[in-house]
Amino acid sequence: MTKFHSIDTGFLMGDGGIMFGAVPKKFWAAKYPCDENNMSSMAMRAVFIETENHKIIVDTGAGDKHLSKIKYYKPHEMKDLREEIGKLGVSPEEITDVVNSHLHFDHCGGNTVANEKGEIVPAFPNAVYHVSLAQWENYRKPTTFERLSFFADNIEPVLDAGQLHRVPSDTELFDGIHLKLYDGHTPGQIAVFFDTDDERFVYAGDIIPSSVHCYHSCLCAYDNNLTLAMDEKKRLYDLAKAENRTLLFYHDSYTPRAKAR
Ligand SMILES: [Zn+2]
Repeated sequence: MTKFHSIDTGFLMGDGGIMFGAVPKKFWAAKYPCDENNMSSMAMRAVFIETENHKIIVDTGAGDKHLSKIKYYKPHEMKDLREEIGKLGVSPEEITDVVNSHLHFDHCGGNTVANEKGEIVPAFPNAVYHVSLAQWENYRKPTTFERLSFFADNIEPVLDAGQLHRVPSDTELFDGIHLKLYDGHTPGQIAVFFDTDDERFVYAGDIIPSSVHCYHSCLCAYDNNLTLAMDEKKRLYDLAKAENRTLLFYHDSYTPRAKAR
């Protein structure tokens, strides 16, 4: 039996013009609020999947190691992911797998923490961390455009601890839990397809970060390759629709999920 929980790890403020890309404000602001500075609230909502034999976290928020570096984004209501899973009766040691959709700081900051000696170590000491091989290679040789989105200490300590698994292509992680790779926002972003007893889900990461991004033309200015991002979003959305899946939105502060229609 597979169960899942959504876990809010905190919120950032994102410029609406950047978040919703080449769509006029008149359109996006009617669907997603912004303040007088054009800034919109962006959730960072991790997914925790429990199966009979595995406890899997999908994306880990921004963590607490870089709050001064990311203060432009006004991080607030930040939570410790380990404490949040503790509220579900699960310890960090019990986590078997962490899936990073990609390595931008707002998706993998909770991968690692400082220990009592001040060393940065994996937050989940017994977990295998899954990142696509394409994303790993992209992170190690970033473009100038993407370079500032990566912080090495979110992932290098995972490699050093021997806990990193690089996913070469679409794969079934465990029975009924599929990792599928999508380009466009960044190379080899992982979307997680999984089923509970009564519903089918897909965690769409930054391929479809909010309900507004379900609109074909609504892309994010942070997408590496807009043309490809549009095609890849359509590929994911069409599959989700064909399989009657509910989309889980990482960044949508108001609509955590919606059926693909
Ligand atoms: Zn993101």
